[in-house]
Amino acid sequence: MRRVLTGHGASRGLALGSARVRMPRTLGVGERHVPAARVRGELQRLQHALAATRDEMRALREKLQGALSDDALEFVDLHALLLDDPELVQALDTLIRQERYSASHALRVQRDRLAAVFERMDDPYLKARLDDLDHIIGRVHAHLHRREPATARGTAGEILVCDNLAPSELAQLQAQGVVAVVSAGGSPLSHSAIMARSLYLPLVVGIPEALAGIGDGDVLMVDGENGRIVVDPDPADLRDYRSLQQQEARELRGLERLRSKPTRTLDGTDIALYANAESREDVARAHAVGAAGVGLYRTEFLFLQSEQTPGEDEQFLAYRDAVLAMDGRPVTFRTLDLGADKADRAGLALANEDNPALGVRGVRLSLLYDHVFDTQLRAIARAAAYGPLRVLVPMVSCREELLIVRKRLRRAVAAVRRRGVAVEPPPLGAMIEVPAAAIGVHGLLDAVDFLSVGTNDLVQYLLAVDRNNDALGDLYSPLHPGVLRLLAHVLDAGAQRQVPVAVCGEMAGDPLLAPLLLALGLREFSLHPSHLLELRRAIRECDLSRLLARRPALLRARDRRGIERWLDATASA
Ligand code: PEP
Ligand code: MG
Repeated sequence: MRRVLTGHGASRGLALGSARVRMPRTLGVGERHVPAARVRGELQRLQHALAATRDEMRALREKLQGALSDDALEFVDLHALLLDDPELVQALDTLIRQERYSASHALRVQRDRLAAVFERMDDPYLKARLDDLDHIIGRVHAHLHRREPATARGTAGEILVCDNLAPSELAQLQAQGVVAVVSAGGSPLSHSAIMARSLYLPLVVGIPEALAGIGDGDVLMVDGENGRIVVDPDPADLRDYRSLQQQEARELRGLERLRSKPTRTLDGTDIALYANAESREDVARAHAVGAAGVGLYRTEFLFLQSEQTPGEDEQFLAYRDAVLAMDGRPVTFRTLDLGADKADRAGLALANEDNPALGVRGVRLSLLYDHVFDTQLRAIARAAAYGPLRVLVPMVSCREELLIVRKRLRRAVAAVRRRGVAVEPPPLGAMIEVPAAAIGVHGLLDAVDFLSVGTNDLVQYLLAVDRNNDALGDLYSPLHPGVLRLLAHVLDAGAQRQVPVAVCGEMAGDPLLAPLLLALGLREFSLHPSHLLELRRAIRECDLSRLLARRPALLRARDRRGIERWLDATASA
């Protein structure tokens, strides 16, 4: 039956496909126990569900044979093997026979037992197999609760419906044919959302009813821009979908005309628009839309995709190619920012920290692993032979960290020069995302060549609101008087000492916030390249002198409503 579910748009794009539901780590099940007379029936239900899942996996394998690499097929085989694993199958049988559990409850109990074993594993690769277990249990669960088992449908690709998703998982999804993702939890500002935008994979987050309301094989229409999904769309929806697709194409054509235009306000001030990039595709797109350079290259994404820490040569090639692709425009390489919700598959990021967001992440992790950090700095130094680049340090909380990094960078450059490569030490910058670094920015200015404000983390630390926790709802917002005052403070400090300051958090990519950031003094934005032309269009409609005249009113706003009123008044002026 047709239903419309709404959440938050986290990565734009339209998709139409059939749902593949991955159940959360704890399965929601109805009855726990069944009377003795129903035990046989429950065992049969379970056997049917297992058999249907096996058939489904076989059909999936046949469908994917030849279309996927052997590695990806191994992943499908692993799921089939799990289905026959005695640890799962026999244990389920025992739980139903002896404990008189319902099939669903037995599934959940055994899943939780196995999950506890996986969770205790130190090896991050094995630990991640818990997702495989969940995937397969989710399929069996779906068969248990459906009269008609789901079959692989159509060729439009699958839409993953899940509770939540780690950024590293997203990297594998496209290879599996997934065309969009819908998650019950999550936030548009999470690293997963950033990754999805980078992959151009539509993502809608924050639909708690998605898992209960969508079944495997349901047809879904996903609008990643507006955070809306239609389950079992009717012919009118499908017509809307086609017309939205056409509208999007028209809009894109309109924006395309801005590719070669300057980013200049109505009264003639040039604004620099840099791109955030995680991949080769992002860099290519940054160049294509006329970005002033790459303002934030998240090097950790190279580390998230591989099961081994990438070596110097592998990193060098990736960095060199980014520099070459930008053809003379600078590329800002942010050093490894692992930790918190960005856990690599090779296991560098520490597991089991009590409070990972305040733990060993960003530059702290780099300074813990001398060898990894020096390798990365040498790889970046080598790439400097191919064009302009800069080095940006994440999660800086004090001046001392910058002084150490500067020294290590010089040492890396010297090592590369000894190999006969003529390079100069690249400019060094700090991310401003820890409140103390923002408040005490005067102490950092002579230790850096530039600054970049990471508002994603700055907002979470300043407001004490986890950027990934959707239960906190609207509390996570840059539209807070404390955030704006702190931004103004950093921008003013940079302007006084002529140290360039950019903003590279997600707020910089929101065209509706452009007047606010310009009024605060921002002249360098760094954002995902897919939003760059829209931001250019918005800035070209701004009158900077009028915005500056309204800056005192903005800083006087006492709450979010006051800031929104300022924005509304600016838009209608
Ligand atoms: C930020 O914190 O604003 C930022 C750009 O870094 P990331 O989102 O990668 O943490
Ligand atoms: Mg950050």
